[in-house]
Amino acid sequence: MHHYCAICKSPFMTDSGNAAEVVATACGHVFHRDCAERHILLKEPRCFLCGKPTSASALHKVFFSYEEGEYDHELSAIVQSGTNWMAPNAPLPVDGLQREISALREEHAFNQEEISRLDKQWASAQGLAELYNDRLARLDRLTEETNKQYVRAKEALAKKASEQGEAGEA
Ligand SMILES: [Zn+2]
Ligand SMILES: [Zn+2]
Repeated sequence: MHHYCAICKSPFMTDSGNAAEVVATACGHVFHRDCAERHILLKEPRCFLCGKPTSASALHKVFFSYEEGEYDHELSAIVQSGTNWMAPNAPLPVDGLQREISALREEHAFNQEEISRLDKQWASAQGLAELYNDRLARLDRLTEETNKQYVRAKEALAKKASEQGEAGEA
């Protein structure tokens, strides 16, 4: 028969070394040390089972008395490899997180500079577009004017031709 850690659902083994060390909270609930510390430090400082406030320093080691025949070295190795994700007493990855945060801040500042640079580019592009639109409108007016002049010149030519024709008939 084995008792289980409610956090990782693995059995407690007494001969599996520090990684699977068993601890109890002040409220009496029993977990693997790694599981309990991970829960308390990374999720919330409360007992995983009953929710009573607790802290990593309040955990105390539990000692089981087992008969030799209950040891299962293969299972114990599996439990150990499944629970030693973080070495006991290893520092929390706070440094790494802070580096990540400051890297993100730098990236954010860079992105804001990039955005304001693009905003300026966009504004000057809009200014250029307005300029070109003005020129196009002017060209349109010029073309219209030229067309009118062309029509007037054609009319004048036609009138002259017909006057010459009348003169020739006369
Ligand atoms: Zn566990
Ligand atoms: Zn509890």
